[in-house]
Order: sequence, then C-alpha cells, then structure tokens
Amino acid sequence: MAEEWRALMVAACALSTCAEAFLLCAYLIRAFRDMPATAKLMAMKGHNGYWPCQACNIHGALHGNTYYTPLHWPGKGKKSFKPSDLPLRSHNKIIRQATEVEAATTSAEKKRLTKKYGINGLAVLSTLPSMSMTESFPLDLMHLIPLNGLKNLILMWTGNFKKTDAGSGTYQLSPTVLKALGEACAAASFTTPTVFDQDCTHFTAETWTLFANMLGPVYYDHFLKLVLIFNLCLCISISKAFVEEKLQPAIVKGVK
Ligand SMILES: [Zn+2]
Repeated sequence: MAEEWRALMVAACALSTCAEAFLLCAYLIRAFRDMPATAKLMAMKGHNGYWPCQACNIHGALHGNTYYTPLHWPGKGKKSFKPSDLPLRSHNKIIRQATEVEAATTSAEKKRLTKKYGINGLAVLSTLPSMSMTESFPLDLMHLIPLNGLKNLILMWTGNFKKTDAGSGTYQLSPTVLKALGEACAAASFTTPTVFDQDCTHFTAETWTLFANMLGPVYYDHFLKLVLIFNLCLCISISKAFVEEKLQPAIVKGVK
C-alpha cells in the first residue's frame, strides 16, 4: 500500500471532465481507525501503554497491572502536567526512536527500547513524506468520547475504572442509582429516536450520545464540561479561530 501511495505522489496522467489531460498527484495525509487499530498503524504501544500518546510526552502511572494517565500524580510533591502546555513529541524524534528499535540486534535490546519509547518499530506509512507521526493519525471523536470517555466515566462512577477509588471526590454512584439510571434510559426508548439497553456498559455510540445530551446526571460539573466539549466537537463547521477561542479552552478547563 505504501508503494502505491509513493507512486501516486510522483504523478499520474489523468483526464478532466473536458477530456483535457493533466498531471494528478495524490498525497496520503491522514490514516485512522479505532484506537487499537490506529496504534498498530503507527507501530506504537497505544493508549494502554506507558507512553500512550503520539502527540505528547505525557506518561502513565502504574496502578495494579495497568497504566492510567493522570494530569496530577497522586502523592505530595509529585509531578503535574499542564493541559494547555503539554510536552510535545516531534515526528523526527519518533522516527529516530523507531529506527533505533528496528536496529536492535537482540530481542532483549528491542524489548528494552520498545518499552522505553512506547514504539514497536518503524510504521510503514511513516516512510511517506506526506505523513506525520504526530499529526496524521488522529483519534476519532466517536471512539474518544462516546465509546471510551463516557463508558470510562460510568466505570469511574461505579468504582470500576482500573481499580482506582474516588480519591477526594464524592461522585460514586450506588448500585441502586445506577440501576435506576439504566431503567430511565430503557424507558426513554419510547420517546427518543433510539433503543437504549438497560445496562449502560452495552450502550452504542448513538445511545451514549443521547445519554450525554438528554439523560446523564446534570448535577456532575465534570460531566457537563465533557458534554460541552463533545457538543463543540460536533459543530458542523470548525474554524482555527473556533478551536483557539472556544474548543481548546473548553478542553483545558474540562480535563483539569
Ligand atoms: Zn497527548
């Protein structure tokens, strides 16, 4: 596939609708699927790894046998990351690290480097000059918010997110409240253009979207901030100014 893209970048002869010949060049600039598939495309460890992000150097805190990625690490005097000023990764550095992994001469060395960088090897698509490791593999909104963010939020509210507790917060729901929430959602199937499952963990992207906007617990400030971010992302038209003035500040405020 990479070879085909390379050939298209050089130019192919094409005909316009007026039958005039012209040179057509095609460049691959984006490639994405769900999170695990995108990680495979990038030959990186992905969202569950110690280095979960291709764009920044935020890294995971080990909890049990899984990593989670807090902005503020638990414990006094521990490190913090500023959401408005994350330490960014660069395409060239990722390529250098991937090349180093590829050049490892023993499996032990390769394993060490893979763990150190969160990179499994050199991604085939990264060899195309039109592709950037930090910008060409975006994570799509459907997987980011409805299918993962909201699902994880329910797991957090019920004390089931990666064995983390509520810390100093008081947001955990009792099983009775969660059951009532599920029943309210199922009953809403008669008055909303979708069919809710009574069990929130079986929701689809569509039901999560309606849950966020119509049925979620509006007394949770952090939930409302997430819904605001979600709705801003769903705007039909998103300009650079909109990102800088509205979306980015909303995201920074929401994740703090
Ligand atoms: Zn990041």
